[in-house]
Amino acid sequence: MFKRDCFGVWMAMEYDLCIVGTGLWGSAAARHASKSTGRKVCLIGPSEPTQQERPEREIFSSHYDAGRNVRKYQGTNHYRCLLSMRTLANLRELEKISGTKLFNEVGHLMYGEKLHEQLSPIAQEAGIFLSASQLRDRYPFLDISQYSDTSFLFPHDAGYVNPRLLVGTQQRVAKQQGCDIIDDVVESVTETKTDDGEPVMRVTTTRGRTLSAKKVLLCTGVFTNFKKLLPLHLKLDFKINGTFLVKLEVARSDLERFGTMPCTSSYTNTSVDSYSLPPIQYPDGNYYMKIGQLGNDGHVPLTTLQEVKEFYVSTKTDDASVNVFKNIMVDIVKGFSPLSVQSETCSVLETPSKLPYCDMVSPRLGIAIGGNGLGAMMSDEMGRMAAEMIGATEGWNLDIPKEQLRARFVLPKPNL
Ligand SMILES: Cc1cc2nc3c(=O)[nH]c(=O)nc-3n(C[C@H](O)[C@H](O)[C@H](O)COP(=O)(O)OP(=O)(O)OC[C@H]3O[C@@H](n4cnc5c(N)ncnc54)[C@H](O)[C@@H]3O)c2cc1C
Repeated sequence: MFKRDCFGVWMAMEYDLCIVGTGLWGSAAARHASKSTGRKVCLIGPSEPTQQERPEREIFSSHYDAGRNVRKYQGTNHYRCLLSMRTLANLRELEKISGTKLFNEVGHLMYGEKLHEQLSPIAQEAGIFLSASQLRDRYPFLDISQYSDTSFLFPHDAGYVNPRLLVGTQQRVAKQQGCDIIDDVVESVTETKTDDGEPVMRVTTTRGRTLSAKKVLLCTGVFTNFKKLLPLHLKLDFKINGTFLVKLEVARSDLERFGTMPCTSSYTNTSVDSYSLPPIQYPDGNYYMKIGQLGNDGHVPLTTLQEVKEFYVSTKTDDASVNVFKNIMVDIVKGFSPLSVQSETCSVLETPSKLPYCDMVSPRLGIAIGGNGLGAMMSDEMGRMAAEMIGATEGWNLDIPKEQLRARFVLPKPNL
């Protein structure tokens, strides 16, 4: 049905819900939101650029990779842990629904003197403490003795997913449930009214589309303060940290030897805290171990859309930084001699609370952002909660206290 909004623009009330952002969270939200029959949902965001397209793009996503750590037990914060526990259970459910294997349960090894700070009492019951030599008995190719004599292994409920495959699977199921998926960038989201006074969200895109929806959910990650997605006077309080990962190519003849390798996290006093993933096949057909920095220190602060774009498109990580991570990997994986070393840039959203924001900015505009470097392992539950939140007719309908996930703004939020 076509109606004119108060600016005189003719528009159809096409959707009950428009989700902006085709990353891990938006794609999960689209699947959950489109489960309700009779609810018209669309998911809108740009598809992954090819290498040639990259310089022309300004909006990117954090899932352009083949491996993300996912585990049941994550740190000591109760809510983050809850989100990762629920996500893992949801992913197992999604595997059944979609018929796609998503979770690779290779285990997770933590090592270093500071690892106790990362282990909640319940997590300690789910794994095994191992000295460096006990670890070598189990994994003859792993030697952490240069860094620490203490490690903790989660043999189960820990491993990795392929984030591209997960995004694709979420979107495929969402589409089967009737969700429209639109490859475009949103330029603005405006709250307006139709001629007869009905509130409507107007969404305009780079390619010239104008969509209308009863509600809009932003799952736009580090890009949420850019474009005109939020009401003009609002700016969310978060940092954008430019970071990088290092990929070390594994010879095919080594794949069997390193075949049981778990994901790792290091919390040592002598070296930078790092995470790593075992050999995983990438789209070029080669296998790489991946390593990167844990935590929020030492990253490149990014503030404008132009800075983020340049960081994704043209920033090269210096050799010294790349070598720090390469050396950690070569130190702990005995006999590993990478065939090639590559690095890629990426960005991470850090909230002041270190918890995600899942909140309504106004009665018709919601947000779900804030992975804090751990957003893959929280992704499905964040999408589920955001879909439930935005579908509510009144009040807070999630079991996690609203205050924990409340969005913070640079300036105080007026009553909208
Ligand atoms: C190198 C690296 C390693 C990581 N490793 C791990 C890990 O091992 N485990 C883990 O749990 N987490 C990890 N993370 C974090 C995790 O990948 C992110 O937290 C997660 O992918 C965030 O998902 P998201 O959907 O919230 O945000 P994003 O991935 O940023 O998605 C936002 C989406 O919104 C779209 N968008 C933005 N603006 C617009 C617009 N105006 N119009 C339309 N669409 C728009 C973007 O295209 C994008 O698809 C890592 C991150 C990095 C960078």
